[in-house]
Amino acid sequence: MTGVPEPKRQEFAGSAASPGVALGTVWRPSAHAVKPYAPGKSAGLEVTALQEAIHASGLEVRELLATAGGSAAGILEFQLAVLSDDTFQNAAQTKIKAGQNALAAWNAVLLAEIEDYRAASEETFRAKALDLQDIQARVCRNLRHAAQQPIPFGAIVLAQNLTPTAFIAHDWRTGGIALTQGSMASHLAILARQFGVPMIINLDHATVHIQHGAKVMLNVGRQNARLITAPTLADETALKLGVPSAMPFANPALPLLAGHGTRIDLMINLSRLKELDQLAVEDFDGIGLVRTEFLLSGQLDDNAFADEERQYWAYSKILEWAQGKPVFIRTIDGGGDKPIYDLKIDRSSNLRGIRLSLSNPEMFRIQIRALLRAAARGTLHVTLPMVSAETDLADTLALFEDEARKLAASGIAYNMPPIGIMVETPAVAATLERFANAAYFSIGTNDLIQYTLGQPRDYTGAKSGVESPAVLSLIKNAVIVAKALNKPLSVCGDAASEPGSVAHLLQAGITCLSISPPSRPFVASAIRAYDDAEGA
Ligand code: PEP
Ligand code: MG
Repeated sequence: MTGVPEPKRQEFAGSAASPGVALGTVWRPSAHAVKPYAPGKSAGLEVTALQEAIHASGLEVRELLATAGGSAAGILEFQLAVLSDDTFQNAAQTKIKAGQNALAAWNAVLLAEIEDYRAASEETFRAKALDLQDIQARVCRNLRHAAQQPIPFGAIVLAQNLTPTAFIAHDWRTGGIALTQGSMASHLAILARQFGVPMIINLDHATVHIQHGAKVMLNVGRQNARLITAPTLADETALKLGVPSAMPFANPALPLLAGHGTRIDLMINLSRLKELDQLAVEDFDGIGLVRTEFLLSGQLDDNAFADEERQYWAYSKILEWAQGKPVFIRTIDGGGDKPIYDLKIDRSSNLRGIRLSLSNPEMFRIQIRALLRAAARGTLHVTLPMVSAETDLADTLALFEDEARKLAASGIAYNMPPIGIMVETPAVAATLERFANAAYFSIGTNDLIQYTLGQPRDYTGAKSGVESPAVLSLIKNAVIVAKALNKPLSVCGDAASEPGSVAHLLQAGITCLSISPPSRPFVASAIRAYDDAEGA
């Protein structure tokens, strides 16, 4: 008698897209039979079938949108905009009239577009291919009149890729995602990090042999991402501690001291109000970065970009949560690769960050008034994104002064907050002394790295992060200049959340990190393990 062989413990490597650990059973979308397509008898019927499938898809996305917030809402808005744009539908109809059935025609049109996105040189465009694939698959499913395959609660999704809407529709209190493809910059990865869902990408292709229903564990540190089949008791013990087994466990109370005794402030980066529900203010020294382009985009009440009152309300809520600890709210960093679909501004100029805001003064003044009013209610600081010239700061300060005068004239309570700048363009980092009238500096390593090294934001090759000599010297320069000007300096880019980068930052003289909240235990461990002598 041979029987079924015992499953063997095996480790498969991939790249970390969102840290954490998860234990569960494998769920493979491919394990489900695809319902065949039954075409109608005429081109007219096929055109109608396609219209109905697109309409049904729009209703499904709207239903998801009703409960989504933050960047999830932005992604869904984008999908709705594509579904209600006639371009793809008209192109498919032409193919149907030429003799193709609706499914073949829709696939031909969408797959060509997806291929174009995949072939793009920019990682952010390649990542958008998945959004289009999501729309393509949803309409195909509706053409087949097939039901959606719900992901079982707690499952570990093992697939080539997963669509953002499948993520949004699922309850992720447990479980995780393991993909043989994927990208750090995809909307799916951004969502996974925001919701604290462990996620591996570019997983070893040998995982094709792992069965649907097999017990597996995901163990995703920042540098070390593994899928483990038949996990042992030791693996599960590490999971119960809530940390990747490769990481020493530590989630100490504040203040955090580095190994050599220097106090390191640990703040959080915030994109959605909801995130605060799960966080205790006692665990952090404040909020180091509020990305208002996500905070305000489509998540307050009616999915419209927030007006002054709603912005004031949102900022006040954040200040209330912080209980007097410092809060650094960044003005809208629109443009570039930021998924802001409901921002009613002129983006034709291709400007980004502060310059986009300055070129849309009507919108910018609304945000400025809301910030000035909120500053009367807590320890608010205002950070300007993507600054590259002194005029960016001077013009913004003038607008703040102007709006403050108007508020004073109307007898409305306000406070002038300290206004600082992001150090995320090499132009600013190399000549920081030009910005002596900024109240403080915050280093955005994501953009600083990409613009200094001329590489995509999520590139992970050797010497491609803060450890790169060029980036490190810009950071060290910022530390020296900030000290000479006696201005506070923090790091709020993703490098601050990466334990492997923390030692480099501390060694450069950084003493304030603003991180993604789920990385707190790993970053805290890295801070405590850092020893000056070792780092020097
Ligand atoms: C950065 O560039 O590091 C940063 C914090 O800004 P964002 O990631 O929002 O572009
Ligand atoms: Mg940036």
